[in-house]
Amino acid sequence: MAEFCLNCWNKINETHDSKWRYALSWDKDLCEECGQYKRVIVTERFWSRVQRVLADAIVNMQNQSKS
Ligand SMILES: [Zn+2]
Repeated sequence: MAEFCLNCWNKINETHDSKWRYALSWDKDLCEECGQYKRVIVTERFWSRVQRVLADAIVNMQNQSKS
């Protein structure tokens, strides 16, 4: 499984998520994007799935009101 640090994760996915949204590895691991040893994202915190739905809904509403 590819492992990325939070910065690279956000860059790849074009998101600006905070570290609180994800479970980060406890130990430093090699980020496959920047090649540095950093804490990498292990998995999305599973309680955030509800938050993600809500966040996406809010973003969609904001986008709709702009257009
Ligand atoms: Zn990285």
